Amino acid sequence: MTAKGKSESRTFAPLAHRDDLDAFRNEVRNWLGAVVPEGWFARSAGAPEADYLAFQRWWLGEMQKVGLATPHWPKDWGGEDLSLRHQVIVSEEMVRAGAPNPDLYVVSLYHLPATLFAHGAPAQRERYLKGVVERGEIWCQGFSEPNAGSDLAALRTRAERRGDVFVVNGQKVWSSFAAHANYCLLLARTDPNAPKKQAGISYFILDMKSPGVTVRRIKQMTGQSEFCELFFDDVEIPGENLIGAENAGWAIAQSTLSAERGLIIFDLAERMHAAFVREIAAVRAAAPAWWADAALRRTFVTHYGELQSLRLLIRRMLSELDENPEMGASALPPLIKIKWSELLRRHTDFWLAVGGLNAQEDAPPLTGGGHITGNRMQDFMSSYAWTIAGGANEIIKTLIAERTLGLPR
Ligand SMILES: Cc1cc2nc3c(=O)[nH]c(=O)nc-3n(C[C@H](O)[C@H](O)[C@H](O)COP(=O)(O)OP(=O)(O)OC[C@H]3O[C@@H](n4cnc5c(N)ncnc54)[C@H](O)[C@@H]3O)c2cc1C
Repeated sequence: MTAKGKSESRTFAPLAHRDDLDAFRNEVRNWLGAVVPEGWFARSAGAPEADYLAFQRWWLGEMQKVGLATPHWPKDWGGEDLSLRHQVIVSEEMVRAGAPNPDLYVVSLYHLPATLFAHGAPAQRERYLKGVVERGEIWCQGFSEPNAGSDLAALRTRAERRGDVFVVNGQKVWSSFAAHANYCLLLARTDPNAPKKQAGISYFILDMKSPGVTVRRIKQMTGQSEFCELFFDDVEIPGENLIGAENAGWAIAQSTLSAERGLIIFDLAERMHAAFVREIAAVRAAAPAWWADAALRRTFVTHYGELQSLRLLIRRMLSELDENPEMGASALPPLIKIKWSELLRRHTDFWLAVGGLNAQEDAPPLTGGGHITGNRMQDFMSSYAWTIAGGANEIIKTLIAERTLGLPR
């Protein structure tokens, strides 16, 4: 995989056209046409990790050059204050151009700013948001523990105040990309005697190079190892790295968890749609053998219909979000998460069935372009991530039952 783009014949400035949505879209399209490397996606298959990291860094840099790495951040903090409508256009054009996703930077670009904008001290914002914009610093999230996933408030990693520092002991798990991270958003228990388990938790910025931090990778069934376990053995965190007040971490964590603001799922659903468009074109060009099977045809078209209604639902969520950024009372995000993850599971399963034994070949994963990559076995295995990440579906269904439908416990 190469980190080199096509040669650019001119400088692109989409943001100079922000007052005219059509011109803005055109400039984003022109920029992507010039910069997205030909064939990068196919080359990502089985690429060495060092190449993957270099490619991600290069891509973040390219997005930064035109102001599209942090367009959703306020101007004061290195962003562009770009409206949601503009961001949707960027996302649509990225999908259209088959551009890479900056997967490695999801916590840096979404979770970190959502946390610091709402709760960070000015010095923390200055230091760490600039670190992302100017140095491409990578962040991971240290929330889940072996016995505290769905029941996150049960977390037991302990942070004890000793003078000017907090001393941390414990373990985290499922921390995505932690092996590459410079910093971690860490939840730890500061008051084990608090009357409610949510009340004794604090929120920290942890420098991953601190003595006593051990990162151990977890080998996944896909063959990749992006998840890590984190072990803390008398790790000292300076008091100035506490975000918000001591023992107020639970409420702050809610800002982190609501950070994605719909655009990530929008991008994924649009990428699935792009895959459908390609698949439909292929069937039209030369009907494959599976098309003769009425049951398979019915499943394919049913999934297509489900995706279209999901896309409409996501657009409705985005327009609600545009009007009311807090989205406090909206019932849509949990519904969308359930519908998306279940459709992804069934559709990747469908392709595995259609492909027969050949599709079960364990070919190297294709990274950075969504979940319907054409590598059927990998697509199927990785589809499970979405029924768990962001809250396991069983838990989300309970929330819908209790909070949206008002059903008794
Ligand atoms: C792709 C991905 C990325 C992730 N990245 C991170 C990260 O960067 N940082 C981080 O901290 N964490 C991360 N996680 C972890 C994630 O937050 C947890 O996996 C999730 O919260 C579920 O917790 P668990 O794995 O401990 O499962 P458990 O909570 O043990 O659940 C296991 C099963 O039991 C069911 N279950 C549990 N409780 C109930 C109940 N009360 N009622 C009904 N069913 C129940 C669940 O639905 C699930 O099916 C990631 C997970 C995934 C899949």
